[in-house]
Amino acid sequence: MRKHVKIPALLAASALTLSLWFTSWVAPALAAVPVTAAAPVAAPLLVPSALTIAPQFAVAPALAVAPQLAKKPVPPRNPAKADVLVSKFYPLVPKTFVPKTSTISGTGVRLQTTTATAYRKLAAAAKKDGVSIKLTSGYRSYASQKQIVDQYTAWYGSAYALRIAAKPGTSEHQTGLSIDVGNYNRACALQDCFANTPVGKWMAKNAPKYGFVLRYPKGQESVTGVKYEPWHFRYVGPAQANAMVKKKSKTLEHYYGVASAPKPAPKPTTVTATTKTTTANVNLRQGATTGSAILMTVKKGTKVTLTGKKSGVWVQVKYGAKTGWMSSAYLR
Ligand SMILES: [Zn+2]
Repeated sequence: MRKHVKIPALLAASALTLSLWFTSWVAPALAAVPVTAAAPVAAPLLVPSALTIAPQFAVAPALAVAPQLAKKPVPPRNPAKADVLVSKFYPLVPKTFVPKTSTISGTGVRLQTTTATAYRKLAAAAKKDGVSIKLTSGYRSYASQKQIVDQYTAWYGSAYALRIAAKPGTSEHQTGLSIDVGNYNRACALQDCFANTPVGKWMAKNAPKYGFVLRYPKGQESVTGVKYEPWHFRYVGPAQANAMVKKKSKTLEHYYGVASAPKPAPKPTTVTATTKTTTANVNLRQGATTGSAILMTVKKGTKVTLTGKKSGVWVQVKYGAKTGWMSSAYLR
């Protein structure tokens, strides 16, 4: 029973943490577990609607958008540089990008050359403090990421596969700038409690000095698109890492000012004014949302006049001296 609960959690947690973890730790465990144990688990799909909006919507003319939103910053996109922003919202360009890498001896893990140099320094410093870091994943090619997603797709179907693994071309690991770390005793591997292990604690405190930042902090899923991963760190260089600490930037998205985008309200469209009858007791609201203040409740069977304004399923109606919004689902 314990296993059945644990494995899906492990899978969900490993969204961007694959290759080595996968082959050495996850795959054997998976083989022992029936597919049905994991497949029905509906991990929340972390695609905030606000972030799926293309930048051009920030300047939708019909909206009273604050001027600074119209000039939404463009984050760095060059994957050969340490400041690049890569996520499901900002895919790699080109999507098959291959970095220049260097192998970390004794691990088989490859990292972008500067990241490798920085990692060696970090690992040596940790060792000096009595903490042995196990480097479990670094650069993953487009092809290997595709292989993982294809395998998950075969097991679970594509919808679930893409919840637990990044689509090829959108994984930060493909830049060679990201590392997944663990403890040699595998304590809390790929779990939230990793944060409380010696390596987790040491990294949280010291990684920025060596240019690495915690990429997927707790509570930032709606911004990064990835759930909390206390084992995944991203090289951005010491200057930027320290600046992020100083500015208290929770994520790269916050640092680049792209942590959220305004969601454009549906544009009101004109319809012909007419009379309708309510089919239930309906709330007349100030605005065209269920969160908007209720002006009054109009009784079933009441005739109301449509003003002609419409917003999604909402229509603006006049009743007596009041004008407000009502769901068209209760009008005929
Ligand atoms: Zn990772």
